[in-house]
Amino acid sequence: MKPNYIAGEWVASTDARPNINPSNTADVIGLYAQASAAQTEAAVAAARAAFPGVASGSIQARTDALERIAAEILARKHELGNLLAREEGKTLPEAVGEVARAGQIFRFFAGEVVRQSGERLSSVRPGIDVEITREPVGVVAIISPWNFPIAIPAWKIAPALAYGNCVVFKPAELVPGSAWALADIISRAGLPAGMFNLVMGPGSRVGQTLISHPDVNAVSFTGSVGTGRRVMAAVAERFAKVQLEMGGKNPLIVLDDADLARAVECAVQGSYYSTGQRCTASSRLIVQRGILPKFVAAMVERLKSLRVDDACKPGTDLGPVVDAAQLEQDLAYIAIGRDEGARLAFGGEPLKREVEGFYLEPALFVDTMPTMRIALEEIFGPVACVLAADDYEHALVMANDSEFGLSAGLCTTSLKYATHFKRHAQAGMIMVNTPTAGVDYHVPFGGRKGSSYGPREQGRYAAEFYTTVKTAYTAA
Ligand code: NAD
Repeated sequence: MKPNYIAGEWVASTDARPNINPSNTADVIGLYAQASAAQTEAAVAAARAAFPGVASGSIQARTDALERIAAEILARKHELGNLLAREEGKTLPEAVGEVARAGQIFRFFAGEVVRQSGERLSSVRPGIDVEITREPVGVVAIISPWNFPIAIPAWKIAPALAYGNCVVFKPAELVPGSAWALADIISRAGLPAGMFNLVMGPGSRVGQTLISHPDVNAVSFTGSVGTGRRVMAAVAERFAKVQLEMGGKNPLIVLDDADLARAVECAVQGSYYSTGQRCTASSRLIVQRGILPKFVAAMVERLKSLRVDDACKPGTDLGPVVDAAQLEQDLAYIAIGRDEGARLAFGGEPLKREVEGFYLEPALFVDTMPTMRIALEEIFGPVACVLAADDYEHALVMANDSEFGLSAGLCTTSLKYATHFKRHAQAGMIMVNTPTAGVDYHVPFGGRKGSSYGPREQGRYAAEFYTTVKTAYTAA
């Protein structure tokens, strides 16, 4: 059994959960300890006890530790990528890319440790100086989803540690393997005991204990809207800091003047890669009528060429969906789309492969109306729908008409429309002639409306959440 990591010790639990490969359900990757509520509380207590020493500790030691973590992740990216592909189902190249990104994130924040700075201003009152500094928040609970098993934990844990906080990390139940491997690397980096803790287990027990614990000063959560709402309510109760990254129903607009091949590539990449299981996936393809027939025909040709198979097999373009429940949800939405009157131009059927896994043909709906559930709700699978637009203005209205606002894309060769879109699309991230999914690690990440709440993640903007500002006045 892979144990939890609490107060610098590896701790077993009475309860364990198997980690199952979605490409081959007979392949059990390992058994992972499920922390009890008492163990979760012990992790918070360890973080709390470590905090004063951490906050006043050496930043040289901290930057060295983060650099060691980065170096080991990058050196082991193929091995860790294989584990990630095996437990989550994204393809090996995608998984290795995700691991490399986690390493780069730790490297970026290793540098940020020694780049933290404040401001010094003159007071409006003569003879007084004002200093503005940032201090760590304290104990941070990190709760992550299953679709980026190492990158999302990395982009929360790295800044939390860099800015001098203590962390209790609860990964998603479905993907404990990458989380455990990351914790193992962090445990050997030379951080003080209690600065980083891992508690694996169900959201209803481990997650709930963390969000309602009076000693947790901040909660960084990524997951579904429903859980996000619950996290927000629990944290608001005691005025702790909270950051929520949630769902998306991201639009990609394709105008008549777009480069067709590029638009198809953006749509295929953005809608179907990582099996469509990305919060930034373009699940709404809003296509101007002039290019629509050619676009749909080219999409169908491209989708026919995609190979859906074992995530670790060379040549696989799309791996399986993550588990039986997600497959059921995808198929239920495909049935809903048909019942609503949309037409499947391609795919949508479960697939059989050599071994038992959760395989699904990528699905493309056409004749979709904006009021249909498949055009409104996040499906979180390889399912996209095409909505017809009369012109750019009509497309923009449809794109913005959503309860979500994470990313929004536009394919065009017109500077006029590109400029207008960057100003008027209601989303946190705007993508022109590039897929809605796929972001850099050194710039802010996050959205608007029902997609995000609180300060942005990643890059230097992460300091906003993981630090608190102090203003000091000194009279000479
Ligand atoms: P989820 O909400 O089911 O679970 C997310 C995490 O919350 C898990 O670790 C889970 O155990 C935990 N949790 C569940 N109940 C809890 C509770 N009562 N208290 C505290 N924690 C609890 O989400 P998921 O199915 O793992 O992930 C898919 C969702 O994540 C999708 O909606 C997707 O769009 C979203 N997502 C968003 C982003 C983003 O940055 N916006 C990135 C990736 C995924």
